[in-house]
Amino acid sequence: MPLHFRSCCTALAVILTLCPPAAAKPRPQAGAPAYDLVIENGRVMDGTGNPWFLADIGVREGRIAAIGDLHAAKAKTRIDAHREIVAPGFIDMHSHADGLAGRLIGLRSPDRQRREARNIVTQGVTTVVVNPDGMGAPGLTVAAQQAELAKVGIGPNAALLSPHNTIRLAILGEDYKRKATPTEIAAMRALVRTDMEDGAFGLSTGLEYMPGRWADTDELVALMQEVAPYHGIHSSHMRSDAEAPMWYIPSRDPGSPTTVLDAVAEHIAIAERSHAIGVITHIKARGVYGWGRSREIIAMIDAARARGVQIYADQYTYDTSGSDGKIVLIPGWAMGAPDDLDSVDPVADYFSRTRPKRKPVDRKAALRVTLAAPAAKAALYRDIAFAIRFRGGAEQITVFDAPDRSLIGQSLADLARKRGISAEDMAVALQLEGTDAPGGARLRSFSLDETDIDAFMRQEWTATSSDGGVKLPADGPATHARYYGTFPRKFARYVNERHTLSLAQAVRSSTSLPAQILGLTDRGVLRVGAAADIVVFNDREIRDRADFTNPHQFSTGVDYVFVNGVAEVSAGQATGALAGQPLKHPRP
Ligand SMILES: [Zn+2]
Repeated sequence: MPLHFRSCCTALAVILTLCPPAAAKPRPQAGAPAYDLVIENGRVMDGTGNPWFLADIGVREGRIAAIGDLHAAKAKTRIDAHREIVAPGFIDMHSHADGLAGRLIGLRSPDRQRREARNIVTQGVTTVVVNPDGMGAPGLTVAAQQAELAKVGIGPNAALLSPHNTIRLAILGEDYKRKATPTEIAAMRALVRTDMEDGAFGLSTGLEYMPGRWADTDELVALMQEVAPYHGIHSSHMRSDAEAPMWYIPSRDPGSPTTVLDAVAEHIAIAERSHAIGVITHIKARGVYGWGRSREIIAMIDAARARGVQIYADQYTYDTSGSDGKIVLIPGWAMGAPDDLDSVDPVADYFSRTRPKRKPVDRKAALRVTLAAPAAKAALYRDIAFAIRFRGGAEQITVFDAPDRSLIGQSLADLARKRGISAEDMAVALQLEGTDAPGGARLRSFSLDETDIDAFMRQEWTATSSDGGVKLPADGPATHARYYGTFPRKFARYVNERHTLSLAQAVRSSTSLPAQILGLTDRGVLRVGAAADIVVFNDREIRDRADFTNPHQFSTGVDYVFVNGVAEVSAGQATGALAGQPLKHPRP
């Protein structure tokens, strides 16, 4: 008998040990609810990549307090998640949600609607990584930016990067088209160190933009040496994601341009030399040259990882990039512009305060002058042919707005065919017959191949990012659909439609993987003690609704979103709560 009794005790002890804390009795005060919130009957997908299990989740004071059978526990609020997926809130690895170039159009806006970020939280996103592409809030340190975000109140949490372009501009000033001196590098290092000390998650670079274009590999390695001791990341918009950088103009820029393969090699070298964690942001292989290159890029990253170099990527879920949205196929030089930056750099206006205002030019008249000179015309046609190839070819370029409404929705190839002229001729015709704005019509190109998108997405080191930010309908029609739809689209298009990856993998790439890359130890997974950033969604119905003719459409199928335990989305509707916090990188 004693033996039997003893084994019973052992069995009981085992049961008690296995039982989650949830099964423990509610807290001391008799009658008081044990939980602020219980999400019951859900299919809990914890973010690790494991398949779902049935459980209830109890939330108390902004943290997950229990996972288990909570049907008998008292709670202030109960939500029935029957047949729904309950997952960690999504983490967006690349977000312009804190505005652009000091323009307060995001989380620090005086307009509360912008701080609520409804287009973001309705995607299930609970944390955004801000200051990407090297672009931060000019004049603000990371600490000051965190303080402002905390003061004004924000919808999602925000993890801040230290921004290289902003820092380089602060130290080099107007004279930035050159290598930095050792003194300047030391000054930049000091700013990066301060930001890291104050809880930045790493340093972002935008090497296709000003003034990052002029930073050499040694400068970047030196700055990343300030990031590495904190286990921070180097989130890089690389020098090139195609045959050449987006600013490249064959007739003007000598030498062979940097390709996406060169850029990946440099990114890996920076991580290898500095030991900072490399993240290729919005990874892609663009244009006719780029298609199929995912295979070589993946091999380069896998080889680096095999050597022990920490390299990751993040990716958005569209075959058209932001800079594809207002493309100009005719270079500025052919239309009387003193330099070509405004025709090829989509964020040139970021630094426009440092550039002199120009006199307006009559582009049509200037273009006619260029066309009349045979040598200039030949150079122009070579440049246009390159621009078309860079954007994926004339079939991939679509008119989105033009004075002649009949052109809208047609491709450059279609229009050229109907007139019996070349695609280059058609690009010229759009300018001569269109508005006097660069290009004469608003064009978008679909320059990415979905085979490459699938290939990158399947890699276990690829996280999800939007490259979006806060948008309101007032921002107008030239809005990329990814601002509203990136995360739901991963499930609708790449899980349910194309079967590129499984539901659990899609959740992992949007939760525990970005948390691991960032070093966030208490988010991105559902476990007791973690912050209560939780999304409840229907995996068959989750869907992006924004497209390029109607971009201001909230996604559907996301029923509840909790940020730090507070509902940002309830029964499918954004609540306008400001439950987000600026996050600080946990000290190593
Ligand atoms: Zn970028």
